[in-house]
Amino acid sequence: MCPRGARLLSGEGGLLAATRLVCHCLLIEGAEGLVLVDTGFGLEDVRKPRQLGLAFTSLCRPQLDAAETAISQIRELGFEPGEVRHILTTHLDLDHAGGLPDFPDAQVHLLGRELEAAMHPGWRERQRYVAAHWAHGPHWVEHAVDGDQWLGFDSVRILPGSDAEILLIPLPGHTLGHTGVAIRQGEGWLLHCGDAYFNHREVQTPPSCPPGLSLFEALDQVDGAARRQNLERLRELAQRHAGEVQLICSHDAHTLASGR
Ligand SMILES: [Zn+2]
Repeated sequence: MCPRGARLLSGEGGLLAATRLVCHCLLIEGAEGLVLVDTGFGLEDVRKPRQLGLAFTSLCRPQLDAAETAISQIRELGFEPGEVRHILTTHLDLDHAGGLPDFPDAQVHLLGRELEAAMHPGWRERQRYVAAHWAHGPHWVEHAVDGDQWLGFDSVRILPGSDAEILLIPLPGHTLGHTGVAIRQGEGWLLHCGDAYFNHREVQTPPSCPPGLSLFEALDQVDGAARRQNLERLRELAQRHAGEVQLICSHDAHTLASGR
């Protein structure tokens, strides 16, 4: 996405220049097949950008390109899309759920609270959820918090019968059922924080955030107190478990470019 206002959104560039926000998805290869974390925009979004809504396309200016969709990149890696058996969505916003129709046979894991919010959106949430993204009838797998903990956070293990340690970490605020996804990597963990923050400097100590991005985060939240509290907890996690837990978020182009 290339919204205008680079200096306010990224801290660099001209006031009216475009900046770049990515949609950071993860693909995990394991014994249970492929697991996809978030789906970005999908082929139908490329064919019919209007389904994303005029407000979103004119403000966020997504550069829709079939080659950049998850399904195309998965094919490019030599896999078949049908090998994606499980999808974890951090939440169902249009820039995270657009690729769901490209994997109609996959099981889609999320918190029940997020599914409820997306299926019955209030007036403030109508813009963010696009019903066309689930018109194909996904195989939803709803999860609920059951008392398990991960480094002080609630956690829900996906695929409990498998060797892969993949956890949903509830981080509400941006949306009601927003989650992070923690993935075991050797001795440590990778935590995809979704839209719990937008710029890597927000979880550094001392934290900072370009003012336009702070404003955007506040305008785009459904529960500000919960969002700010979770951001603080993520900062503490990054500080206390530096070296053990690597944090990434959905839209920071710097993190994707750094290859971490
Ligand atoms: Zn997003």
